[in-house]
Amino acid sequence: MARRARIVVVGAGFAGLAATKELARTGALVTVVDRNPYATFQPLLYQVATAGMSTADVSYPIRTFAARWPNVRARRRRCTGAGCGCGSAARSRRWSRTRWC
Ligand SMILES: Cc1cc2nc3c(=O)[nH]c(=O)nc-3n(C[C@H](O)[C@H](O)[C@H](O)COP(=O)(O)OP(=O)(O)OC[C@H]3O[C@@H](n4cnc5c(N)ncnc54)[C@H](O)[C@@H]3O)c2cc1C
Repeated sequence: MARRARIVVVGAGFAGLAATKELARTGALVTVVDRNPYATFQPLLYQVATAGMSTADVSYPIRTFAARWPNVRARRRRCTGAGCGCGSAARSRRWSRTRWC
């Protein structure tokens, strides 16, 4: 049986979420890692600053995003240097959506 690719995406910003979406469609096992548990739609931050919108209107839980695909999981971690410790978890034989790396 062919092994599925295991990929760690660091950062759940515009680029990270777009990459995760495309990779998920290929069937790869994707771990998206961000220092925050939410993604922020930055172009609308000025609306929050001027009290036109609430923070909940411009942010979105990364776990809710990940839940759209069975092969995507979200982890909250601040990556430092070359690694954030999620690579070994992504490579481990047993891939779990609920296990933290
Ligand atoms: C106020 C404001 C208004 C803007 N308006 C517009 C606009 O109108 N039109 C437009 O095209 N662009 C606009 N931009 C720019 C646009 O938001 C950025 O170009 C875009 O968000 C960049 O996407 P990105 O994925 O590269 O980075 P980001 O969206 O910044 O995502 C980076 C992610 O990586 C995470 N991260 C960073 N470091 C670490 C770490 N060490 N460990 C773990 N996670 C980490 C962060 O938490 C973040 O979620 C605006 C930006 C701002 C701030």
